[in-house]
Amino acid sequence: AKQAGKGTYVLYGQNMQRHFDERMIVEKHLRGAIDNNELFLNYQPKVYLHTGELWGFEALIRWNSPDLGFVSPLSFIRIAEDCRLIVPIGEWVLRRACLFLAGLHRQGRGPYHISVNISVIQLLLADFADTVLRILRETGLDPRYLELEITESIFMESFEEISTKLEYLKKWGIGIALDDFGTGYSSLSYLKQLPITTLKIDKSFIDSIPDENSSMPLAGSIIAIGHDMGLSVTAEGVETKEQLDFLETMKCDKVQGYYISRPIPENQVKSWIRQYEQ
Ligand code: C2E
Ligand code: CA
Ligand code: CA
Ligand code: CA
Repeated sequence: AKQAGKGTYVLYGQNMQRHFDERMIVEKHLRGAIDNNELFLNYQPKVYLHTGELWGFEALIRWNSPDLGFVSPLSFIRIAEDCRLIVPIGEWVLRRACLFLAGLHRQGRGPYHISVNISVIQLLLADFADTVLRILRETGLDPRYLELEITESIFMESFEEISTKLEYLKKWGIGIALDDFGTGYSSLSYLKQLPITTLKIDKSFIDSIPDENSSMPLAGSIIAIGHDMGLSVTAEGVETKEQLDFLETMKCDKVQGYYISRPIPENQVKSWIRQYEQ
């Protein structure tokens, strides 16, 4: 038993080391990624459930590293947060997405909305709100077509400070969506105090539709709660017609997921819109 215990320890130690090395490698390559044009955005459509009309898109970052290949945002965003590279990367995403949407609007398309994922590290910056408003001015995007996607964990950090910033941005007409809703710890009374405009039901609740174990999947209750609080509700990760029909019955406002479309590279967005809207 002693031997096994020791063996386990050594193995664990090696894994820790490998994990650490991987992070160092990713961080090293990520440092030059913006300047070397290795980052780009995909855009995933969000549509109004009732009319089928195109609401807009969520910007999702992609990284194609010449040395590492395609790296998933699920792994590099966390690392970028730890080494604060998320600050320049997050700003790049915001500018690029606003620029692209403003360009579409100038061509007479839409107007569509754009949702951008924001990390807690960005929100804790003293000049975060100024940066957002400056980027909107510089790119010429009307603030009411921008939506920021944040997660509940953001409010664990420093509730007052972050709420004040988001409240201020909301006054400019910017939408605030609470992403991955239902996976965190927020109580309902707490939810009421958040300066948000939209609830995004996490994919895990959509996956459980249809639910053989209960007559009403949890997603239905979340939609009702969101509406009670005067919020718009978006479902993410919608993959089947069955899920879409259930969400429609429950009066969910917007849907996003592979059933509508996978995330689309920037240069294919216009042709996707043309096809969708004809
Ligand atoms: P998220 O914000 O929850 O984004 C939704 C993820 O689900 C995306 O993965 C999207 O491609 C995927 N997805 C959408 N519809 C479906 C579906 O029907 N089925 C399935 N199986 N998956 C679907 P992605 O693009 O790999 O992004 C992963 C996460 O990385 C995002 O989760 C978000 O937390 C983070 N992320 C992505 N881009 C950014 C960014 O620009 N900034 C920050 N801070 N985080 C980002
Ligand atoms: Ca998101
Ligand atoms: Ca999400
Ligand atoms: Ca999610």
